[in-house]
Amino acid sequence: MSYRLNHDCTDRPHTTARDADASRPPREPGQGEQGDAGSDAAPGGPVLSRRTLALGAAGVVALGVAIGLRLSSCSHHSDDDPQPDNGDSSDASGNPSSQFSGGAIPVGDDGTLTVAIDPGHGGDDSGTEESGLVEADICWTVANYCVGYLEDHGVTVVLTRGRTTNPTLEDRTQVAVNAGADALLSVHINYNDQDPGLSGVTVYRPTDQTSYLEQTTTVPATALANNVIGELTAIGLNSNGAVSQELYIDPNDATQAKYAYPGDTSNVSDYYAMVRWPRKYGIPAVLVEHAFLSNEGDRELLSDDGFLKKMGEADARAILETAGYTGTL
Ligand SMILES: [Zn+2]
Repeated sequence: MSYRLNHDCTDRPHTTARDADASRPPREPGQGEQGDAGSDAAPGGPVLSRRTLALGAAGVVALGVAIGLRLSSCSHHSDDDPQPDNGDSSDASGNPSSQFSGGAIPVGDDGTLTVAIDPGHGGDDSGTEESGLVEADICWTVANYCVGYLEDHGVTVVLTRGRTTNPTLEDRTQVAVNAGADALLSVHINYNDQDPGLSGVTVYRPTDQTSYLEQTTTVPATALANNVIGELTAIGLNSNGAVSQELYIDPNDATQAKYAYPGDTSNVSDYYAMVRWPRKYGIPAVLVEHAFLSNEGDRELLSDDGFLKKMGEADARAILETAGYTGTL
């Protein structure tokens, strides 16, 4: 995109005044983002509580650049191979009772679809904020409408976090891995303090500049991204497209090697951690910036619970379509 990323949906070090106020220590490899008890522990089981709202704290607007990204260590996973790339892009369930057939997102062998929905902010990370609207609150609401719609259509869904907790991005991914998620969708709301005219949805999908697990991640996630764009524009949002955000790795800088995919010799990775971490484990993932809190028209939509429901259900329909859902939406 031509505009500057100014929304902190990555796992890079926090340098904003808000984070300084929060006295959050820089995250060290292997250390949980919050330094709180349990943050280093293995992520808990599926979080299935729904439709619980709570107000977040002050928002954050951060300037995003690729260089300087940091990542909590994946040392306790570094010996693990990601899910094998079996090149299987079909339903493959062979289950005659399956409601899924021939989708870009392959469903499980039992014919069921398992999806991880990631509310992008929560706990002491409230995301961005404008005119009393807080990204974390909106993300939680949209995510749970999405969950409800998916569950009503027979999908097994796991939320990657609770409303009041802020696990690391790796831990949130691990929840998806543990649940056997066939896909992950991360829910965000955008902000741009340079151009309040920017509006609408942007979907970030894995880059195709590296072939790492391309068939099991990039290909299905790109199909999902395009369907998300289609569904969200159908409810009236402007489209900024389905795009990838590359992270270029300096091969001479050993500290950047951790961003590379296992065994991948290219100097390119994915900028957004909730695209990069799932990809590492073979899960197709997209990060959806639904609309701009910095745009007056979008803000009006985002202040309407009925529209948040439309957005969550649009996300859900996109997932179902991409998985080849054969029922009625
Ligand atoms: Zn966000």
